[in-house]
Amino acid sequence: MVDSWNWRSYVSVGERRRQAAREVEARRKKGQAVSPVLIDGRTIVRTFWGKAWCENLERYSDFANRLPRGRTYVRHGSVVDLQIAAGEIHALVSGSSLYEVQVKVEAVSKARWRSICEDCAGGIDSLVELLQGRLSKAVMERICRQGVGLFPAPREIAMSCGCPDWATMCKHVAAVLYGIGARFDKHPELLFRLREVDEKDLIASAGKGLPTPAAGAPGKGKVLGGEDLADLFGLDMATGSGAAPAGRRKAVKKAAGKKTVGKKTGVTKTAAKKAAAARKTARKRAI
Ligand SMILES: [Zn+2]
Repeated sequence: MVDSWNWRSYVSVGERRRQAAREVEARRKKGQAVSPVLIDGRTIVRTFWGKAWCENLERYSDFANRLPRGRTYVRHGSVVDLQIAAGEIHALVSGSSLYEVQVKVEAVSKARWRSICEDCAGGIDSLVELLQGRLSKAVMERICRQGVGLFPAPREIAMSCGCPDWATMCKHVAAVLYGIGARFDKHPELLFRLREVDEKDLIASAGKGLPTPAAGAPGKGKVLGGEDLADLFGLDMATGSGAAPAGRRKAVKKAAGKKTVGKKTGVTKTAAKKAAAARKTARKRAI
């Protein structure tokens, strides 16, 4: 079955890339700051911050079904410009035409931010460790906690795109949402700018007379591995077969030193099967 409209409007990946490159060059010549999202290989996000951003969005059923088509788009270099500022993201996405995408994200409320800082007090040694995502399980859990952490829920996000088939979330917006994750990989501080909070508060809290967490409280503990991050969001990052039930969360491995989060670790088939059964819908994951 041939749809003539689709046939006429079809633009190959190669041609889209050329169009995007021309567009970036034209804007640069005009003196505009252009910041394309460049994905190296198939992996869109590699660090804790980039992964956590994407995992957060995918855990909401409102988004889960619409996001996947954005992955291919962002991998192909379709997000030719992405600018992250306080409370909003502006992007240009190359499709059949060039579309402007805007994503607005509400600021973290003062009360919520204070709560996060208090709960993490004493648990983050330095800004470098924070931005590298070298965090204890407890701190990470607090930062990623659904609805009250640092990552936005769908109700805190408003999106728009200039394309004709704009609905709840078109592929251009989906590509931008992944592009934001990729940008956080390289510039995690932009997450804090976006949510209008100061990341230094998380470090400073330890010395501001806030309650020092007792042993076992947030902040003290081992650093997470990739599988633990997946558990945190109720997702299986390695196989994409669904979530591991909370009861099956693996103990954090003891390590001589802190290790950077983000390593993919295998999940056994048995665990994956049980995880799949535990969830109503299995999602393909390719990040
Ligand atoms: Zn669109």
